[in-house]
Amino acid sequence: MEKNYYVCTGCGLLCDDIEVESEKNIVNKVYTACRVGVAHMKETRDEAGFRVDNIPVDEATAINEAVSILRDAKNPLIFGLGNSTDETQKLAIELAKKINATLDDTSSFCLGPLSDALIQDKLKTCTLDDVRNKADVIIYWGTDPSDSHPRLLSKHSYFPRGSEKQRGWEEERTAIAIDVRKSHTAKICGNYFFQIPPKGDAEFIDALIAGLSGKLPKTSYNYPPKRLLELANILKGAKFGVIFVGRGLIYSIEDLEPLFKLMKVLNEKANFHLIPMVSSCNIVGFNEKLFAETGYVNSVKFEDGTVKHGPEYSIVESLKARTVDAALIIGTDPFSILPHSIVKNLLEIPFISIDHCETLTSKHAKVYINTTISGVESGGSATRMDGVKVSFEPVIETDHPSEEVILKKIMEAL
Ligand code: SF4
Repeated sequence: MEKNYYVCTGCGLLCDDIEVESEKNIVNKVYTACRVGVAHMKETRDEAGFRVDNIPVDEATAINEAVSILRDAKNPLIFGLGNSTDETQKLAIELAKKINATLDDTSSFCLGPLSDALIQDKLKTCTLDDVRNKADVIIYWGTDPSDSHPRLLSKHSYFPRGSEKQRGWEEERTAIAIDVRKSHTAKICGNYFFQIPPKGDAEFIDALIAGLSGKLPKTSYNYPPKRLLELANILKGAKFGVIFVGRGLIYSIEDLEPLFKLMKVLNEKANFHLIPMVSSCNIVGFNEKLFAETGYVNSVKFEDGTVKHGPEYSIVESLKARTVDAALIIGTDPFSILPHSIVKNLLEIPFISIDHCETLTSKHAKVYINTTISGVESGGSATRMDGVKVSFEPVIETDHPSEEVILKKIMEAL
């Protein structure tokens, strides 16, 4: 009997080998996925439906209210979309152009600079399939995929056999963790865990570059030069190296200059690639689409056919400066991820929450529109964290509207 494999949209890996047992449109069992993926695919959409001012309404009333908020706004903000399908993201960009909105996603306070550099080919990257098939040196830097992307090590990087790595991880691959704490991933890396102090990454990179260039590596925090030289020697010998870059590294360095320098030296001595550890399943897709449309990956403001860009158009600065007068939040929960001192300003303006589940944000929204879970109840496509496009079918059927259907209705009514 032919098996159906589904895609898990639980994180940026978009694993495409998931087997599911369902009955009467309820997912009963999920095979192959990690614990995060199982929870994601068995997640039940909250049945709250649609609300205005916390009172249940029908879909048409919720959409009418959302349209009236957006129509009345002089400077609306559209934020989120990291877990939305490509189709929804395209519509959201069209909507932002139509209503002269500020448009931003979580990459403006996460890995946006890295996405921007990769889209512009300023750093060498590769696919996860390349990593599985060829990588002999793998660095997890400022990230703990064992918790955040649980199958990165087992399916895509350290443990699996690949076409050029048939003997498995112990003999043919070296896994290295560089982090401020001994994470679960760091424990797997054993002796190849390099613990550095918070904000110590830029200096560590400088010292590593010195080690790679045959000089004595020094840091102000007295990292043992012997250990740094040991690391430099492993990296120099890499035939196919990859660095998985997490937020820990990006938050620690002021700009990407240290990474550019390191990648330059590494590629003079060996062969290194870099992949961003984006968390949501389609942040890369959003960044690519917005870049194609505007030349920027986030934090833009559309204004009568022109585009403005800058930190002042990020959600954080827009809310801080109170420059936006309404908001449409799609598939994300700023109340849980941003500091209260900033996000509280959302409470001063009318905002709409479109989400598949109740969140702190949806509870405070003027309008709440409940949609399907992308990848479970509705299909589409998304871009994996390594830039590979993945299409997916729904696992179960529902006549509940998807984000895409809701955005189309809002666009038509505006
Ligand atoms: Fe889903 Fe990510 Fe787990 Fe893969 S690693 S099964 S995409 S949550």
